[in-house]
This record gives sequence, structure tokens and C-alpha cells, in this order.
Amino acid sequence: MKEFNINQSVRKNILELQPYISFRDHNEFENPVLMDANESPFGNFNRYPDSTQRKVKEKLASIKNISVDHIALGNGSDELIDLIIKIFCEPKKDSIMRMNPSFAMYDLYASINENKVVKLGLNKNFEIIKEDFLNLSQEERLKIFFLCSPNNPTGNSIDDLEFFIRNFSGIIVVDEAYIEFSGRTSSIELLDKYPNLIVLQTFSKAWGMAGARVGVAYASKEIIAFINTVKAPFNINSLSSDLILKALDNPEQLSQNVHSILSEKSWLQDCFKTIRCIKKVYPSEANFFLVEFENVEEVYDKLLEKEVLTSKRSPHIPDCIRINVGTREENEQLITVLQNIES
Ligand SMILES: *Cc1c(COP(=O)(O)O)cnc(C)c1O
Repeated sequence: MKEFNINQSVRKNILELQPYISFRDHNEFENPVLMDANESPFGNFNRYPDSTQRKVKEKLASIKNISVDHIALGNGSDELIDLIIKIFCEPKKDSIMRMNPSFAMYDLYASINENKVVKLGLNKNFEIIKEDFLNLSQEERLKIFFLCSPNNPTGNSIDDLEFFIRNFSGIIVVDEAYIEFSGRTSSIELLDKYPNLIVLQTFSKAWGMAGARVGVAYASKEIIAFINTVKAPFNINSLSSDLILKALDNPEQLSQNVHSILSEKSWLQDCFKTIRCIKKVYPSEANFFLVEFENVEEVYDKLLEKEVLTSKRSPHIPDCIRINVGTREENEQLITVLQNIES
């Protein structure tokens, strides 16, 4: 395998960029008169947020036992996916790879940047076939592999992650949006070993803060510096960073959330066993299930009729609907509709 070299992997125009420096955020002042940013002197949210996001990063750094310069924040992990593609992929020339099926946003941002998407088909248990991975990885100008674990929409975690990281010569992004539900250890602990690794996490799922739009990238200092250079300087707004700081001060809330969702998940799983139109419930390490039905169109329409919104994966994954765990009341509504379907 060829040695990974960050400066040969990054697009040349990005390599030459100078980061936008908000003077105020990169210097210490005691009691400054702020006349530098054309803000209003009046109002509660009159000031621009900290472009370096120092407080949130320092808190995350102490929780994850990593230094601040290994952390970048995005307007959701969506923004980080977009930025990572822009940093490494030359439009019209380079390509990305993702598992198939997997999260739709990788394709969206690759298309916007005019990069081809190589699809790595999974086996019937939605695992990666190592031989196929090794073959497809040989493709010229393949720059990034998005490995989603637990995977969306299938729900399973990928085993032996280090095999894929070791055997990929470009950037490998491990998307851990659902990791808190899986109980597995994060790939953050592999960062010291692999300079081509980026780990994505988010406040949108287990933390219950999708509306705040905050995602986190963990990677080498060099990669983080590039992300900080290309991001919009004020991508995390003051309201969101205040909310995140509060949430990080109260980690029991996260474990409580996860605990409740996992217990509702097992309640749902038991109910599913009694529903006749269900053919199969795929094993899940996330807060959702991929469920296969006898009569998927009818089921989906009946649910919709009762305003129970689910995510139809058929025909792409034949006969399947992805359903996430709700409150007990919501789960009961789902089960009631399913019980009333003849099969
Ligand atoms: C939900 C999800 C995300 C999170 O996206 P945000 O922009 O942080 O809300 C990231 N990756 C995957 C696979 C997801 O399912």
C-alpha cells in the first residue's frame, strides 16, 4: 500500500488557501470596545459567534481525551461531509466510494462537486465483502471512502474496521452518527495510528439535538486545519453553541436518552414478532429498524393514511421500510396500524 501523504491528497487550490482569521477570535483582550465587525451595539444576539468555537471544542476535547486541534465542528455532519469532499476531490476528476445501501448525503455532495460515486455492494447481511472492497479500492482517482457504522438505513455495525482503514490509500471517513446506540468503541482511538482517518459524530441522533445542527469531525491536526480553512467562519451560531455547551455539561441526559430509546427499541422488537405482515426485522445497532414486509406498498400507504411517517426503502431494498424508535405512545400508534393490516 502506498504511504498516505496529506499534501498530495488535498486539492492544490485548497493547499494554497489562507484561513480566514477573525482577529478578535485569535487574540486575548480584557475588555475590548468592539468596532471591528460592523455589528450593531444593541440587542441580545448582536455579536458574531466565535469563529474558532473554542469553548465547545475545549469541552469535547476533555470529554474525548484528545487535543482541541484534532476537532472541527460543522453545521451538522452534513456540512462536514460536503467540506471533506471539497477538500480532497477535484471536480470532474476524482471519485468517492460508499457502501450500497448507505446514507444519501454522500451522493448529494459528491454530485454537487461533480465527483463520481463508486458503490460498494454489500452481502445479504449488509456486510462489506472484503474482496470487493479491495478490488474497487484500486480505482484510479478514488479519493474518499465513506464507511458508515452503524450503517443507515440497514442498522448493522461494520466489523474489523481497521482492515478497511489499513487497506485504503485515500481518506477514510468513519461516520459514527449512531454509535452511541451500539455500545461499540469509537474509531477516534485509532486516529494516532492512521493519518488518513476522519471520524464523524453528531448531536443530531442520540443527543436529541437535530435542530441545533452541530456535527463533529475528529482527525489529524493537518486535516482539521484544512476543514477549518474551508468552513464558513461562523458556521456554528451562538444559540447552538450555547445549547451544546449545556448538553455537554449534563452527560447523564445522553445516557438517559439512549437508555430510553434502547428500551423502547426492545419493546418494539417484541411487538414486531406478533405482526403477521412482517417478514423480517434486520438486526440493528442503531435507533431504527429496517423491516421487510409481505405487502410493503399497502403497509406504507396505511401508515401514511394514519399520518405515521416512515421511510420507504423499497424498491431499492426490496419490500423494506426503515422505521425509527419513537416514544411509547408513538410506538403504540405504529403497532396499532400494523396490527390492523390483513395478511
Ligand atoms: C443522520 C445522519 C447524520 C447526521 O447528519 P447531521 O447533519 O449531523 O444532522 C450523519 N450521517 C448519517 C449516516 C446519518 O444517518
